Amino acid sequence: MEVPEIDSARCTFCGKCQEICQFNAIAVLPNAALTFPELCHSCGGCFLVCPELALISKQRRIGTVESGARGPVRFTHGQLRVGEALARPLIRRVRQEAGEGGLTIIDAPPGTSCPVLAAVLGSDMVILVTEPTAFGLNDLKLAVAAVRELRLPLGLVINRSDVGDRRVHDYAARENLPIFLEIPFDREVAEVYARGGLLVEELPEWRRMMRSLWERIQEELSGTRSEKLVAGRGISTSATLRTKHA
Ligand code: SF4
Ligand code: SF4
Repeated sequence: MEVPEIDSARCTFCGKCQEICQFNAIAVLPNAALTFPELCHSCGGCFLVCPELALISKQRRIGTVESGARGPVRFTHGQLRVGEALARPLIRRVRQEAGEGGLTIIDAPPGTSCPVLAAVLGSDMVILVTEPTAFGLNDLKLAVAAVRELRLPLGLVINRSDVGDRRVHDYAARENLPIFLEIPFDREVAEVYARGGLLVEELPEWRRMMRSLWERIQEELSGTRSEKLVAGRGISTSATLRTKHA
């Protein structure tokens, strides 16, 4: 992140930078000016208003971005430094790694906070992963409301679909939300997951189910965004958003 440092030889302590900063990242006293880089959102406002050009741009590291590949699949993730509060710049940086064309799947954090919205913004579709419990339904309703504000098409995956009750299914029917896939509460699935394995490699029937998930997503998108599908031969970006209890 780009953060300001004050050149005290040039600063006249006029206070304009403090005035414009909405995040209290600068304090100007009669004979001193201080910056608080941890609070800075890198908006650039202070650089624009300083009449003495007394602000020097410094880079601050808030995390790391790591990439790798397995076969044709590229993977990138961001790791925020312990104690850092601003995840959005790191999320933006991770998203820049998405190549042109092909399919990008973004695994968003659970909930409906700023980092979640930063992760899903601009996606072609949001897939909400939930489970059929009272907690799952509560978080699902919040997530649906947030995604609808962004006017993004969405669909559901119901995890542990055979526990709990039918309220999530009833809600989906009422709200006209397509259910793309139901994953049962299955010991074999849990074991593969716990080993860090891939269901599609270890349990052949999951290859078919994941393919049908992909086909359902394409079908849904062809109904909502036919122009883009024709032009792009498919989805360029989709995001999965886990509700808190999934
Ligand atoms: S705007 Fe510039 S000159 Fe004024 S207090 Fe801030 S750094 Fe100093
Ligand atoms: S860049 Fe923006 S957030 Fe950071 S100190 Fe300047 S005005 Fe405040």
